[in-house]
Amino acid sequence: MHIADIIQKDSPTFSFEFFPPKTPEAAETLYQTIRDLEAYMPHFVSVTYGAGGSTRELTHDLVARIKTTTKLNPTPHLTCVCHTEKEIDGILQRYAHLAISNILALGGDAPRGMAYDKSRDFFQHAVDLVKFIRRFNDSGAHPDTRGFGIGVAGFPEGHPATPNRLVEMDHLKAKVEAGADYIVTQVFFDNRDFLDFRERCALAGIHVPIIAGIMPITSMSGFRKLADLAAGARFPARLLRALQRCENDSEMVRRVGVHFALEQCHDLLDNEVAGIHFYTLNRSDATRVIFDSLGLPSRRLTPAPLT
Ligand SMILES: Cc1cc2nc3c(=O)[nH]c(=O)nc-3n(C[C@H](O)[C@H](O)[C@H](O)COP(=O)(O)OP(=O)(O)OC[C@H]3O[C@@H](n4cnc5c(N)ncnc54)[C@H](O)[C@@H]3O)c2cc1C
Repeated sequence: MHIADIIQKDSPTFSFEFFPPKTPEAAETLYQTIRDLEAYMPHFVSVTYGAGGSTRELTHDLVARIKTTTKLNPTPHLTCVCHTEKEIDGILQRYAHLAISNILALGGDAPRGMAYDKSRDFFQHAVDLVKFIRRFNDSGAHPDTRGFGIGVAGFPEGHPATPNRLVEMDHLKAKVEAGADYIVTQVFFDNRDFLDFRERCALAGIHVPIIAGIMPITSMSGFRKLADLAAGARFPARLLRALQRCENDSEMVRRVGVHFALEQCHDLLDNEVAGIHFYTLNRSDATRVIFDSLGLPSRRLTPAPLT
């Protein structure tokens, strides 16, 4: 089912993001996480694509495994970086063959530790990838006659590469006009940024559902890494103060981070968010604590009644 349709039927949606593991130990941890979180029956889960397509096969394999061995609905991320048109077509063919329903179409992070010339990429921006997926959908190669549902990224605090926020909004609108039917946001820590972004999208004539990206902070080292990866992310003084008070106590840092994310989720629900997407970092504990504390009607699997 397309994510836009799921949102229309059952908003707010809840979804989890995983990244493909690189070692057998990490694969075991992830498998346990997926089992733990499957019981919550998220509306969908997504699987990231390593910078520069570095996890090309691993992403495909994890998506295929989730699709074939669980009841979950996996959405692969796909990026423009370092790909030819033929390669992207091949990847779409494989996902269509697996009857994957949705793709998150992204520009992609530049690969680290190697020379990279963006001008050599066939697709320069996510909008070009969205257009290509749209054409693929029209070709009838997907078992669903409508093809893939297409998601794109949105940046409530702005994307660092486009300081002009009006122009940036034009770029987001172009992705929607090219065929994207939902937006997932970059992680943010001040809900006012998300709510204002949602309003600015509406003013710009962008009316597809916007799913909020939430990441609970679970360690000081993870927090510092995030500040580097999600460049430009704004951390409210209230969060920084709370973390500073306990930075030498790892369990307390985890509690503060989870509590902060939980408060964000309650506020987003009060503000009729279309969906909440949890960046799980392949661990289930923080996400489960938040989920269990939201007071939502249970979507947990219940055994069929005996006849
Ligand atoms: C929800 C989410 C999931 C992500 N998952 C991954 C992942 O799995 N793998 C990964 O590598 N990265 C991932 N990223 C990171 C993302 O790929 C990078 O942040 C990337 O720089 C921006 O992606 P985009 O899809 O918005 O790209 P684009 O839409 O291409 O935008 C990138 C920049 O180019 C500008 N731009 C867009 N169109 C034009 C145009 N026509 N002319 C000039 N400028 C233009 C935009 O304003 C923006 O500044 C994710 C980000 C988010 C929010």
